[in-house]
Amino acid sequence: MKKIDQYAFWFIVGSQDLYGAEVIAKVTDHAQEIAQALDASPRIPCRVLYKAVGTSPDAITQIIRAANHDDNCAGIITWMHTFSPSKMWINGLGRLQKPYCHLHTQHNRNIPDQAIDMDFMNLNQAAHGDREHGFIAARMGLPRKIVVGFWQDERVHRQLGGWMRSAVGAQLCRELKVVRFGDNMRQVAVTEGDKVEAQIKLGWQVNTWPVGDLVSQIDQVPDQDVDDLLDEYKRTYTMATDNLEVVRYQARVEIGIRRILQKEGAQAYTNTFEDLYGMEQLPGLASQHLMSQGYGYGGEGDWKVAALTRIVKGMTEGLPGGSGFMEDYTYDLEPGNELSLGAHMLEVCPSLAGDRPRIEVHPLGIGGKSDPARLVFSGAAGPALLISLIDMGGRFRLILHEVEAVQPIYAMPNLPVARVMWKPKPDLMTGAHAWILAGGAHHSVMSFAATPEMLKDWAEIMGIEVVHINHETTIDGLKKDLFLADLAWKLR
Ligand code: MN
Repeated sequence: MKKIDQYAFWFIVGSQDLYGAEVIAKVTDHAQEIAQALDASPRIPCRVLYKAVGTSPDAITQIIRAANHDDNCAGIITWMHTFSPSKMWINGLGRLQKPYCHLHTQHNRNIPDQAIDMDFMNLNQAAHGDREHGFIAARMGLPRKIVVGFWQDERVHRQLGGWMRSAVGAQLCRELKVVRFGDNMRQVAVTEGDKVEAQIKLGWQVNTWPVGDLVSQIDQVPDQDVDDLLDEYKRTYTMATDNLEVVRYQARVEIGIRRILQKEGAQAYTNTFEDLYGMEQLPGLASQHLMSQGYGYGGEGDWKVAALTRIVKGMTEGLPGGSGFMEDYTYDLEPGNELSLGAHMLEVCPSLAGDRPRIEVHPLGIGGKSDPARLVFSGAAGPALLISLIDMGGRFRLILHEVEAVQPIYAMPNLPVARVMWKPKPDLMTGAHAWILAGGAHHSVMSFAATPEMLKDWAEIMGIEVVHINHETTIDGLKKDLFLADLAWKLR
């Protein structure tokens, strides 16, 4: 899997030949200086490469065509140091296939009281040039991020860095392949969806592989590889079982799944307990440890949440806090402190853990297989986001719910799975009401690293609907928003 710092953003600066070679040379120097400063910022996760000062329609079109064709280019950042008549940009921007950010900044922070003259003002006129540039993007209806502020300010770096993560998410979508072992769980609605539409809209390639191929792959794993992975498990987690043969089987399954993913160039997968013919255990520890390496996973054939888990993990690479597949399971309805308990049958990602995960072996009533090994832990505390993608029939809707995760308030010694607890915003009753009203799935991606702004920018780049539930949400307000959004999306 590609690392986030392998992606680059092209810094393209606008000007025009009217000002003469001397001014263009200064514009070029300043553009390089700004690109280098952004590139070096710890808040910016990707490369920022100065590419060109565009002074003619042909030059601008050429650079945008090159950006489209570079697989490492995850987007463009434009800035008009001087005035740059924006009809020059129409042909180029009309061809743009990459995410687009308009950085509205200025090379100088302050107006030089004594030194300012007409020459200075003609060189440093982004206040004026960027308005011309903004108009053409608005006129062409181009989705774009606008970041406003001085290029040395941390706030600008943070905003730009966050948007870059959204744009990398869009690039990851274009590269994403999801392997399905088995179909969707029988009769379940929300985990279904239009895979052709998902590929048209989001770029995801979602295809199926027989579980028999996985079983034969598992059977071929050399014992030495299993021993090595068992050692890694012992180093990473607490071994809380004597039944090492069961753990060894999970290691064998993990290696088998990873081999198929690597062979197919896939970064996410699903399986289902209804289609495990030839397997001894449902993958538990195996799926959990694969998720901790950045793979996306969804249970019960849920390819949408598998893909989304991979995208969110990729977008948030390097940030503190984990992300993983999650499911709302049961509530604690203590008045005034209502909490949701999240878990899954087995497959909760250890990146969400607040303590050291333990490898345990317990019976599993579902699936009719041997007792599987799984990681058991309590989730971390802090602000988090629950993310769900649903197929509304004709469009995809992304639902974001801000929650406050807490350390589980009970020990729950007989609960044989990893558990996370949280307080939904604005409170459990309104939050759950809003989630259900919007059609949010029982499966989600939980992330301590992703921000609502990051996911909203990603949704805007992908051209999908977004619903945001937070401390300000009211049911009346949400009903109105959903009604208006429904009309708007049908008119599109
Ligand atoms: Mn489930």
